[in-house]
Amino acid sequence: MCDLYADIIIDISHEALDRIFQYQVPSFLREKVCVGARVTVPFGAGNHKRSGYVIGLSNTPSIAVNQIKEICEVQEEQMVVEGHFIKLAAWIKQQYGSTMIDALKVVMPIKEKVNSKEQKHLSLLVEDSKAKELLFQYQQKKYTKKAKLLEALMNTPSLSYEQAVKELDIGKSTIDAMEKQQVIAVKRQEVYRTPIFEADASKTKCTLNEEQQKAVDRFTSDYSKKQYETYLLHGVTGSGKTEVYMEMIEHVLKEGRQAIVLIPEISLTYQTVKRFVSRFGNRVSIMNSKLSKGERYDQFMRAKRGEVDIMIGPRSALFTPFSNLGLIIVDEEHEGSYKSDSMPKYHAREVAIQRGKMVKASVVLGSATPSIESYTNAQLQNYVLLTLKNRAKEAVLPKVYVEDLREELKKGNRTMFSERLRRLISEALEGGQQIMLFMNRRGYSSFVSCRSCGSVIKCPHCDVSLTYHQSGELKCHYCGFSRRTPKTCPDCNSKFIGAFGTGTQKLEEAVKKEFPKARVLRMDFDTTRKKHSYEEILSSFSKGEADVLVGTQMIVKGHDFPKVTVVGIMVADMSLNTNDFRSSERTFQLLTQAAGRAGRGELAGNVVIQTYQPNHYSILAAKAQDYESFYQQELSYRQLLRYPPIYQMMVIFVASSEQEEGMKMAMNLKEKILSLENSKDYCLVGPSVATIGRIKDIYRHVLYVKHLEYEGLTFLKDYLELELEKEKENKKIKVYFDFNPMGMY
Ligand code: ADP
Ligand code: ZN
Ligand code: ZN
Repeated sequence: MCDLYADIIIDISHEALDRIFQYQVPSFLREKVCVGARVTVPFGAGNHKRSGYVIGLSNTPSIAVNQIKEICEVQEEQMVVEGHFIKLAAWIKQQYGSTMIDALKVVMPIKEKVNSKEQKHLSLLVEDSKAKELLFQYQQKKYTKKAKLLEALMNTPSLSYEQAVKELDIGKSTIDAMEKQQVIAVKRQEVYRTPIFEADASKTKCTLNEEQQKAVDRFTSDYSKKQYETYLLHGVTGSGKTEVYMEMIEHVLKEGRQAIVLIPEISLTYQTVKRFVSRFGNRVSIMNSKLSKGERYDQFMRAKRGEVDIMIGPRSALFTPFSNLGLIIVDEEHEGSYKSDSMPKYHAREVAIQRGKMVKASVVLGSATPSIESYTNAQLQNYVLLTLKNRAKEAVLPKVYVEDLREELKKGNRTMFSERLRRLISEALEGGQQIMLFMNRRGYSSFVSCRSCGSVIKCPHCDVSLTYHQSGELKCHYCGFSRRTPKTCPDCNSKFIGAFGTGTQKLEEAVKKEFPKARVLRMDFDTTRKKHSYEEILSSFSKGEADVLVGTQMIVKGHDFPKVTVVGIMVADMSLNTNDFRSSERTFQLLTQAAGRAGRGELAGNVVIQTYQPNHYSILAAKAQDYESFYQQELSYRQLLRYPPIYQMMVIFVASSEQEEGMKMAMNLKEKILSLENSKDYCLVGPSVATIGRIKDIYRHVLYVKHLEYEGLTFLKDYLELELEKEKENKKIKVYFDFNPMGMY
């Protein structure tokens, strides 16, 4: 038997160790070591025990055999990384710049095996007459517990162990004794920790309209020809994209393959999941961060064993280990939350397409407001464009009004409501309809400031203001620092110091004042901290327990409230005034999605966009509900300023504990780029201090690099990593890369 060697990635996230180490597989482990297994190995000069993943096996040593150490053991309680996920991890490492071990951790959202859960049932082993006899004996002997259990089991065919213990107060010893005496039987059954509610598989299915059918036909015809494309399903809000997804899924399931449906975490609600469950029954499972470790593990195992065919969830669901994956759907593909905010900063849409390519699965990206990237790819025919122009039900698109807040002020209106919005709200209230009022991100947290000198209370460790909490505490959302609200201004000692309420709180008060009879619900960061509060607020609103729902962008996501006829966007331009190249795109998306909440039922909808910039193209395009015109204008802006998707962009982010050192490093990196032979292909901006210059006492500097080709940037990243590796003395400074960021740093 020839020797066997394993290529191993050590589980230490450090650039210097980010390579393959070869180990010998001892004969007693031959059976157990496989590609993807997690093993323990001696590492470094001290031979400390370390963990690592086997990513390859061979019979040829790459260095002198006497220098190769042996694997100590296989960690059998750990999950094995499957072959194609190792390839996917390698792709993530190359594409986004991270160590292989960090990339492996991304493709393995479930790392450890979790012991399966047992459910025990008690049942009677003896005949009725015998049972009666025994009961009599127990009562005589005052075996009260035994008598109680026996009596209970005589009245019910089976009792769960927990019921016996909790409800009847029977101890383990009693149960054990009666089992031993063969009076009762204890049946053990493995159960899944399953978050899915019982499926009422009514298999509801509606007849697709012409547009929907056309989209599905294109997909199925390609699929039958084994052409596994990426599709962009561009459908206005309410056009029935979900029905199209389900039809496509059904086609894929018929071929014996499985499907993953990615949904942004925030729209993963009961409503959404229920639609899939009522069509596909218990073949559906979900994955999300609220599930327990055991629940998450069980869902992956069910997928692996082929017990479910559809996995719904946010980013991590993408790595569901289906054996014959045939389709990945990315719903609301424009959502920023598809991009990971920790290293490696991968984009789930891009990784989905890559996984699709690797396993020959189709990918469908869906949105009412596609990202500029995806729409461009569709224009370039990298993706197949499928379009739904009309709402599925007879409901027409709502009427959209733009109200200039400057004009309102001139007219002497100092309230938060333009005349038109106030009138529409009153009418809707009178007609017993519902209203949604939307205030976006910026009005989101409240801070404490001094009315005498204007100073704002800031975090001592971060360059941000502290957030006021109703408990009277001031907290930093970046580092967790907290303090009590001071009674006087720390700068000028003035007593006139106080908290400014959040935008949504103020809005709620304003609604109550203007419309005293209206019942108002508020949904924002403050009111949704508890586990189910998000669902509770929505369901209460949906049941008509309130007339007005006030909230942040949380409320604009895909919910269907047929009684909502008025949607008001209080200050549309709040998200425009940022230094972020995606701000117009985000504004357009928010306005379109928010407008899409109105008029979903039989009654026509009205949308009022209040703004200080009524002529901004993103607002005009949202008013006209004209995606195409927005896209053209946005693209020419990106072209002019060399932003993605025309140019590819990489952020070089420098984190340092000394301010000057960080800047010096950023300058140093810039010089390295400028001294490259092809430096003129790179367009550099900065270095400069990041928007938030300091977090947790770490200083933040950024250098932006743009290039026409993505490969130009990955090449640069590899080169700079090598250079940094040489300069060992800079250990205290960390350099990170982020490709095509979701916002500016
Ligand atoms: P989207 O995801 O594009 O916003 P949905 O799939 O949620 O749209 O559909 C909006 C509404 O229209 C839903 O209530 C859905 O049940 C309904 N609907 C979709 N397609 C049809 C159809 N072909 N016939 C009747 N109703 C439909
Ligand atoms: Zn002051
Ligand atoms: Zn802080």
